Amino acid sequence: MNLQETFGSLVFNDAVMRQRLPKETYQVLHRTIAEGRTLNAEVASVVANTMKDWAMEKGATHFTHWFQPMTGVTAEKHDSFLSPIEGGGAIMEFSGKELVRGESDASSFPSGGLRSTFEARGYTAWDPTSFAFIKGDTLCIPTAFCGYGGQALDKKTPLLRSMQALNHHAKRILRLLGHHEVKKVTATVGPEQEYFLIDRELYDQRKDLICTGRTLLGARPPKGQELDDHYFGNLKPRVAAFMREVDEELWKLGVSAKTEHNEAAPCQHELAPIFTTANIATDHNQLTMETMRRVAARHGFACLLHEKPFAGVNGSGKHNNWSMSTDTGMNLLEPGETPAENAQFLLFLVAVIKAVDLHQDLLRISVASAGNDHRLGASEAPPAIISIFLGDELRAILDALEHHRAYVAGEKTEMNIGVKTLPRIPKDTTDRNRTSPLAFTGNKFEFRMPGSAMSISEANVVINTIVADVLSQFADQLEKAVDLRAAVEQIVVDTITRHKRILFNGNNYSDEWKEEAKARGLLNLPSTPDALPYLIHPGNIALFERQKVYTGEELHSRYEIQLENYCKLIAIEGNTMLDMVNQGVIPAVIGYTHKVAQAALAKRALLPDLDLSCEEGLVRRLNELLLGIRDGAKALADSISALHTAADPLARARHCRDHIFRAMENLRALSDQAEMITEESAWPFPGYSKLLATK
Ligand code: ADP
Ligand code: MG
Repeated sequence: MNLQETFGSLVFNDAVMRQRLPKETYQVLHRTIAEGRTLNAEVASVVANTMKDWAMEKGATHFTHWFQPMTGVTAEKHDSFLSPIEGGGAIMEFSGKELVRGESDASSFPSGGLRSTFEARGYTAWDPTSFAFIKGDTLCIPTAFCGYGGQALDKKTPLLRSMQALNHHAKRILRLLGHHEVKKVTATVGPEQEYFLIDRELYDQRKDLICTGRTLLGARPPKGQELDDHYFGNLKPRVAAFMREVDEELWKLGVSAKTEHNEAAPCQHELAPIFTTANIATDHNQLTMETMRRVAARHGFACLLHEKPFAGVNGSGKHNNWSMSTDTGMNLLEPGETPAENAQFLLFLVAVIKAVDLHQDLLRISVASAGNDHRLGASEAPPAIISIFLGDELRAILDALEHHRAYVAGEKTEMNIGVKTLPRIPKDTTDRNRTSPLAFTGNKFEFRMPGSAMSISEANVVINTIVADVLSQFADQLEKAVDLRAAVEQIVVDTITRHKRILFNGNNYSDEWKEEAKARGLLNLPSTPDALPYLIHPGNIALFERQKVYTGEELHSRYEIQLENYCKLIAIEGNTMLDMVNQGVIPAVIGYTHKVAQAALAKRALLPDLDLSCEEGLVRRLNELLLGIRDGAKALADSISALHTAADPLARARHCRDHIFRAMENLRALSDQAEMITEESAWPFPGYSKLLATK
């Protein structure tokens, strides 16, 4: 395979456009994209035609507006290029109108009451900053999805809006600092994707994996994952073949992916792309998840993207690496070489610190889902408490700045940090703290809370918006300043002083941190129903409206959709578990008890004086568990039935968490105990040892 020819070969990217479009059209399009303006109809029609010809050469027969409704997965509505002509026959057509705007019956996608039924249609609009691409026989056009009133019904629209806000306010700051040459600031994102691969054949035997993506039942294997490390150290040929194919498919789509083996848990792996613009990274991450699922099936695997497929085994996350960069090639979170560069770096750094401290609630909400609640707060994942890791060295520099002290680092020369000069920031030399939910890693922030199954859109909407808002405050202050240098320093020092409580370099998993975080007044929102109500707090509505990212109406709709999604998911899990218990576990326990009892009777018939206490004990214990399981299943069924009695979406979500979820945990514990004393072949579905032994 020739990587150079392969990479992006299925993408209608800039190179293709430059080569194929009339020069003038290309220039107009390019300018439109660069400046984020709307495309005019004439240009659109030329682009559409060229795009169609290109796609048909690559074997495409259909096109679709590819969009990301609030379900969190991508949606497509396929149309063919074929247009019938008068007198029979057909021509291949694809107009500018079809390129830039599509109609879509939006009524089947969640809208949280945003669309009344008489205007159930929404429209999709091409986002020309994301390139069109070919998947199979279909030309996919990345689009935003809106209601007729312009309300965002998807995950792309707010992301684009938040990028605009960040661009606007970051540029204000840069202009003040003398960078008049900068035309655009973009949020850059590189999401690292974790996932599990297990045997398809075993997956197909488990209703829980099929319906919910995670195991709802299953006793932990006797061998811990630590012991498996060496065993799983080498990449299995089948896994290697899968990875090669995923890489190749993604390269064709212009996703610069590099799959890697990950040793955290058996069967767990990671894929890291090279970072790009936030909205493209978000599209690419969706494509990555789709591709991994599809390719897995071809290799006899099931790809599990759930945040916690197995209890007691490491969960999966998505590390969202984030920074800001200019069209002139500056990374705004890159420590500089000169004091002036460092002043700029420190200003943007403390903007993030302040934003995170002020908006812990929004960051927590951006990663809230029923699936991710299994991770956050559990001892192997980032906790639900937000804090920032800066590394010892940078922390010490901020400390010195705050107290107007000189910064002395080991053998390094003393830095002069009088009021006029800011210190040089050394390259990050500290060990990275793997327990931190948000770590500064040299020239970017790594947000480790997003779940493996979720879109990274929300997390980046929030980061972009809160940083933009703080930058706007800084810009307001600086625009009025007489002595800019002194004003910058004042802001840096003030911000550190006021917001340093959010900085924490220690172990985030410890109980002491929970205590300390509480003493510092940091938020701890362990579950989705704890977090979501903050979304519609007046302060947050004002923030999003101020930055033109969400209207109050859109926020309310999102609040309801997220609560509904949470409830739906837990109810599905509860019902799936009931099926498995009633149709699988209970019959299996009865069957196996019968087998043991029969064996005991046979022994007694043969030799009446034999000690049968083993069989008797087993029958007794299994029967106890059987009764417990029956009661547990009844309690679970009751709690699911009671769901509709809750008054509003929040009450329903709380009911799910406090009653349905609890009942599931209780039932699972009993079933798992029964599994551990039941003959393996008598158990109705493959257990953890088998699932995690996938090769
Ligand atoms: P690791 O975390 O394994 O040490 P790296 O730090 O090299 O690996 O990169 C992790 C991820 O961060 C990659 O996806 C990379 O592309 C991304 N990344 C690197 N620089 C930036 C940046 N300026 N903005 C956003 N993401 C970035
Ligand atoms: Mg990483």
